[in-house]
Amino acid sequence: MIKRDYLIIGSGIGGASACEGIRRHDKRGSVTLVGAEELPPYKRWILSKSFLRERNPRLKKLQQPDELWYHSHKIETRFGTMVTQFNIERRVAVLGNGESIEFNKACLAMGSRPVRPPVAGVGLGNVIYLRTIRDALALREMASLEKMVMVVGGGLLACETAASLRQMKLKVSLMHRNSYLLNRYIDIGTGTWLTDYFAKHGVTMLMGESLNGFEGKTVLRNIQTKSGNRVPAGLAVVACGAEPNLDLVRNTPLAGPHGSPVTDYLETEEKGIYAIGDLAFYPDRIMGGVRRQTHWDSAREQGLIAGANMTGKKRIRYEEIPYFWTEMFDLTMHFVGDFSVQPTRVDLRGTYAKKKFVARYYQGEKLRAILLCQQTPREVESAKTQLRNALAK
Ligand SMILES: Cc1cc2nc3c(=O)[nH]c(=O)nc-3n(C[C@H](O)[C@H](O)[C@H](O)COP(=O)(O)OP(=O)(O)OC[C@H]3O[C@@H](n4cnc5c(N)ncnc54)[C@H](O)[C@@H]3O)c2cc1C
Repeated sequence: MIKRDYLIIGSGIGGASACEGIRRHDKRGSVTLVGAEELPPYKRWILSKSFLRERNPRLKKLQQPDELWYHSHKIETRFGTMVTQFNIERRVAVLGNGESIEFNKACLAMGSRPVRPPVAGVGLGNVIYLRTIRDALALREMASLEKMVMVVGGGLLACETAASLRQMKLKVSLMHRNSYLLNRYIDIGTGTWLTDYFAKHGVTMLMGESLNGFEGKTVLRNIQTKSGNRVPAGLAVVACGAEPNLDLVRNTPLAGPHGSPVTDYLETEEKGIYAIGDLAFYPDRIMGGVRRQTHWDSAREQGLIAGANMTGKKRIRYEEIPYFWTEMFDLTMHFVGDFSVQPTRVDLRGTYAKKKFVARYYQGEKLRAILLCQQTPREVESAKTQLRNALAK
């Protein structure tokens, strides 16, 4: 049996950052990073953006950190390997190749996977779920062969992918069951403007339409909507949300209905076992409540903190303002704060027409979130400070 001081499961940005967090405070402890994907951790966020559009994207450029980093920091890596069993009591993990690793401390960083809608034809050829570099490579290839593509969903991933495919000159339709894009995050005024923005850029918007199924013998031919429409499409990208990858710890206290419950220090109720990134369901001491974030910066920061805490030399709370960004067409938007509840009042500074604005979202008198469109990194940082100050009052 292999014995390790630290075992990190999942080689996304969370897992990579946990390794980094450990090495900042413990230069010697033995660390193994196990990840199902073959590539070392890479910038997943780029897959729906320039990676799709660039003529010859370079895989090496995507790595974060560079794969040499693991070697120079004496981190053993097992890429292309699943952890298939996780025995909490014995502190033993079994890998897909049959090897077992006995660990002292572990970090669960298995991230999330696309939700598959419960309709006919979800497994047809040319129906794509965009999560990994393999998915993105397949999408690039199919986009070079097909002319008509349907994007199903109206969230961040759906919008980014639809925009990129449109920029690649494909005939793109987007089907979303709500009346405006990003309805889970933004107010109706901004959402309606954004929906029109997509239409003006040539995306056929099928708003208020729900998916009924995919038709075709082996590959996709048509998409059926619940209202009875049949839309021809040779390619579909399904972006209907992501669910935490909790199979490994299913039926244990480490798998809750909303993710893996952790403390302020990102530790689960099992001492020495941490959970981070898209998996972690953590108490938000700044905005209040308990939440799971599925965004890049939070996975990165949580990895660094969990890694540091695992060494026992630090005890750091995760206390960040929720934050993420998105890019679609020529727009970059930053989201600072809690967008999970619709605002009762929106204070808009700037204009949609100029594509440059800041929208402050209030619940009653309380500022809860700030949406920034085409603003500088400095303004984004200042929004975080403003929100922190407003919440401290
Ligand atoms: C296309 C796309 C675009 C995005 N764009 C943005 C953006 O613009 N801004 C933003 O803030 N966020 C964005 N995100 C979200 C962001 O990328 C994620 O929140 C982040 O990658 C989460 O990191 P993670 O390490 O928690 O999980 P993941 O990145 O999901 O990594 C988890 C890894 O664990 C592996 N794994 C799972 N189970 C096992 C197992 N049993 N054994 C071994 N390995 C396992 C998985 O294969 C995966 O490689 C985007 C996501 C996608 C898919």
